[in-house]
Amino acid sequence: MARPVRVRFAPSPTGPLHIGGVRTALYNYLFARRNGGTMILRIEDTDSNRFVPGAEDYINESLAWLGIKIDEGVREGGPFGPYKQSERRDIYRKHVKDLLDAGRAYIAFDTPEELDAARAATPNFQYDASTRGRMRNSLTLPAEEVQRLIDEGQQYVVRFKVEPGRDVVVNDLLRGKVTIKSDILDDKVLYKSADDLPTYHLANIVDDHLMEVSHVIRGEEWLPSAPLHVLLYEAFGWADTAPEFVHLPLLLKPDGKGKLSKRDGDRLGFPVFPLEWHDPKSGETSSGYRESGYLPEAVINFLALLGWNPGDDTEVMSMDELISKFSFDHCSRSGAKFAFEKGKWFNHTYIQQLSDAELAKLFRPAAEAAGINLDGFSDDYIAKAVGTLKSRINFVKDLTEQARFYFEAPTTYAPKDVKKRWSEQTPELMERLAVLLEGLDDFSAAAAEPVVMDWIKSNELHMGNVMNAFRLAVVGECKGPHMFEITEIIGKKETVKRLRDAIRNIHPDEPVV
Ligand code: GLU
Repeated sequence: MARPVRVRFAPSPTGPLHIGGVRTALYNYLFARRNGGTMILRIEDTDSNRFVPGAEDYINESLAWLGIKIDEGVREGGPFGPYKQSERRDIYRKHVKDLLDAGRAYIAFDTPEELDAARAATPNFQYDASTRGRMRNSLTLPAEEVQRLIDEGQQYVVRFKVEPGRDVVVNDLLRGKVTIKSDILDDKVLYKSADDLPTYHLANIVDDHLMEVSHVIRGEEWLPSAPLHVLLYEAFGWADTAPEFVHLPLLLKPDGKGKLSKRDGDRLGFPVFPLEWHDPKSGETSSGYRESGYLPEAVINFLALLGWNPGDDTEVMSMDELISKFSFDHCSRSGAKFAFEKGKWFNHTYIQQLSDAELAKLFRPAAEAAGINLDGFSDDYIAKAVGTLKSRINFVKDLTEQARFYFEAPTTYAPKDVKKRWSEQTPELMERLAVLLEGLDDFSAAAAEPVVMDWIKSNELHMGNVMNAFRLAVVGECKGPHMFEITEIIGKKETVKRLRDAIRNIHPDEPVV
């Protein structure tokens, strides 16, 4: 019987979660949900030197924002806890001892200076079967000496004893069988007495086993560790229940030349982190998708397609649709170009799916931040106003400039539009238009537009001259949505007032200062 699907996302809290890490979390989540499985969040904080305060909260907040739900984890709890590695020291200690007792690992006392000397003496030095016999470890020292050094409090590490001459087979669901010779592996450090903590390799393997992980889905950068992991499962006697591996292809720079980095984001103007990050050490702030105005649904959809496709060319998919279609059969093995322009397109597309009322809700905080006072405007007014601009924006914050005129009458008029659109005859023309509009009972676009069009025609006026000057007076520049949609929303009184203000205030002959 196939075992239950249990996957884990296992970030190290060493800084903000990179967008590539988010994609890894997403593929784990999609795979888990598709297969009725469990999604674990395990915090791999065994490298005390690289610990960054705030990183764990950042990870939780990012996943929550994106709608990637965790079934078992530090916050959620679960039957296999604790889910934070620094709280599992006893478990690792026991497993390190098991390997030592079974002769699959050994204790090494070499100091950093001794290791440097060995590297200097032997080109391409590697701690392995060819060199371990010359080093200071429990394979070369008498047992009493080893005990004495430990009792004296000498620092040591435990190394895995890699047997040479073996073919190590990594079975990867995307890549098939990858075989490497055990001779190229070094005797990796599994445990350090200095901080009484295991290294990534040991903790990762032990936890995947104890947490009954069925599939290890992670970035390609971990592929080189996989042969060692295979050997560790074997050494512990767990080979039969070892998880399947999936090493996801890298995210590449937008031009495809090399791995995506934070610098590409800075250079080309897109975030590489889900949320804004304030580096506690440098004080530096890095932009995030959330603060840059992306909708989480758009980010998810965009990331899902970086390395996977549904088997056809469907692009716009909700989380539920992604779950129902996801499988590794349609994952690519080569790196995915980070086409950030496509990310903007997704955001635009998801904004179109929002109702005007939903968009208005998102607009409120953005408007406030941009100093637009919405007091006195009804929800309905705001919704209608932003609704006219929906198709023109990629980001909610694009609305703040584009929608401002709905809430503030223009006080200045774009000089180049004034120059082009406001002639000596315009004030008189606009006054006639104001009178015409004042006389209307029904000010809806459907009613007002034909009246104004007839008036232009029957008076043989120039359509462009009238409408552009009208727009300049109402909006402050010759841009924006359909004119009669605008006037319907702002209403007759305000429209007429803006016309008369413009007549009073626009003086094209005065030099612009
Ligand atoms: N702690 C590792 C990381 O930071 C986990 C790698 C893995 O998934 O095995 O990505």
